[in-house]
Amino acid sequence: MSFTLAIVGRPNVGKSTLFNRLVGKRLALVDDQPGVTRDLREGIARLGDLRFTVIDTAGLEEATDESLQGRMRKLTERAVDMADVCLFLIDARAGVTPTDEVFADILRKRADHVILGANKAEGSAADAGIYESYGLGLGEPVRLSAEHGEGLNDLYAQLMPLA
Ligand code: GDP
Ligand code: MG
Repeated sequence: MSFTLAIVGRPNVGKSTLFNRLVGKRLALVDDQPGVTRDLREGIARLGDLRFTVIDTAGLEEATDESLQGRMRKLTERAVDMADVCLFLIDARAGVTPTDEVFADILRKRADHVILGANKAEGSAADAGIYESYGLGLGEPVRLSAEHGEGLNDLYAQLMPLA
């Protein structure tokens, strides 16, 4: 038995970078097919000896008539409902933004299991944001750098009991 992880959070926090790191390039062709929805990308993640399904809420960045806020809410709720566990990413360099608070609220109400990920955490520029993220009330943040592949051991430790 495996589990499904949804990576959620506002645009630009590094969701797709982490998704790509976990999944590799195996999805690139699927993604390029016309008519395939790009709102939610699904792939098979590898992390150490774990294999699990991972969902990237990828449609947030696309311009539509609908407000970003409404779109974020709908997409996030869909991803949450598909997932056993949500990885809520923030940009630790940017600190906690009002939009992050909106996400945290959705997750607190709707998700069974949330892991808080403080991404872009390489270097000391992230320290203040990491400290601030405790205030989201989602527990201790996992320090991550999707771009540099840091913190994946800590993510593994959080996910291992679910496998
Ligand atoms: P998404 O909109 O949440 O999917 O975010 P993306 O994965 O597209 O990343 C947004 C930007 O943040 C890109 O320019 C990435 O290169 C950058 N980024 C992602 N992860 C990291 C990280 O760990 N550290 C830093 N410094 N930048 C990152
Ligand atoms: Mg993305």
